[in-house]
Amino acid sequence: MHPQAAHAGAILTVDLDALRSNYRFLRQQAGSAICGAAVKADAYGLGAERVGPALAAEGCRHFFVAHLDEGIALRPHLPATAQVFVLHGPPVGAEQEFIAHGLIPVLNSLQQIQAWHMLAESLQRPLPAIIQVDSGMSRMGLPAAEAEAWLADPRFLQSIPPLFLMSHLACAEHQNHPMNASQLARFKTLRQRLPQVAASLANSSGIFLGPDYQFDLVRPGAALYGIAPVAGAANPLQPVVALHGRILQTRTIQRGDHVGYGISYSATEPRQIATVGVGYADGWLRSMSNRGVVFIDDHAAPMVGTISMDSITIDATGIAAQRLQAGALVELIGPHRAVDEVAHSAGTIGYEILTSLGNRYYREYIES
Ligand SMILES: *Cc1c(COP(=O)(O)O)cnc(C)c1O
Repeated sequence: MHPQAAHAGAILTVDLDALRSNYRFLRQQAGSAICGAAVKADAYGLGAERVGPALAAEGCRHFFVAHLDEGIALRPHLPATAQVFVLHGPPVGAEQEFIAHGLIPVLNSLQQIQAWHMLAESLQRPLPAIIQVDSGMSRMGLPAAEAEAWLADPRFLQSIPPLFLMSHLACAEHQNHPMNASQLARFKTLRQRLPQVAASLANSSGIFLGPDYQFDLVRPGAALYGIAPVAGAANPLQPVVALHGRILQTRTIQRGDHVGYGISYSATEPRQIATVGVGYADGWLRSMSNRGVVFIDDHAAPMVGTISMDSITIDATGIAAQRLQAGALVELIGPHRAVDEVAHSAGTIGYEILTSLGNRYYREYIES
């Protein structure tokens, strides 16, 4: 163990071997489509500077971030042959930054297309981009009328060669949701107008909707990081993240004693309470108060009392005192407790658990 890990309050482990294995699995699921990677939000909290190069080593060359600044930070860590796409497109007036940093925008509105077109004119060369169209989610991408205006103006297609026509699915994790077929139909109709342009529709879950949804490029994020892509089905991905927190102290409480802020838990019989040094400031969501469990070896220990900023209290009754000493590690995420299960106990999704992970953890990357 690294000396800093030996005293760290909590240890976040990111298994880059498992990440790479997940990438290979998804690429295989995607058939003939290219497999890109969504590495926005610091690779869903796992660290884009480590995740990006690990995926590049597997041959990934299409990376998606949300913000321009994420792209600027990531670009130097990737091979020159990799393309970094910025999902939000150029912030107003920042088009030039994309050229300076070797980034490619996803253009989502006629306004962004016009601004990018002006830059291409002033540089007197075509500037490729991804064009995103709205196929029904009403979030990002050209609404139908703007898509028509774009297609109607031949100058745009000349100055901005589309690398991909792109859209995004709203309900892909629910395989029988009628929205999937509806979005696919709208996307295909638009695509017929530009049959020579490559296309991209699927996120992680979209890959598992089958070949019709895969087109030329898929853009998984969550599944790379071990989150289950299909609602109600077994998770075929390997876990990538583990989180272990340290016991700070242990006490026995009696019937009628209380635990934590607001005394939301009271004992009805003697209980062994251990305090662990992870709290909501570490992204251990307060909504899990009195709901989730952590693991001590094979034993589930329920979280009792309200989650504090820097600590949680767990009911470790029945677990050997030897195993509850100050400094001992307990498993918050790991082989006994999947990210998706943690999310369920917090009333949220695995995405939010990962992207909430704090900066206070000692981070350990496994890479063989
Ligand atoms: C975040 C994002 C993805 C990746 O989605 P996952 O569900 O994490 O696989 C793909 N495309 C777009 C446009 C996104 O915003």
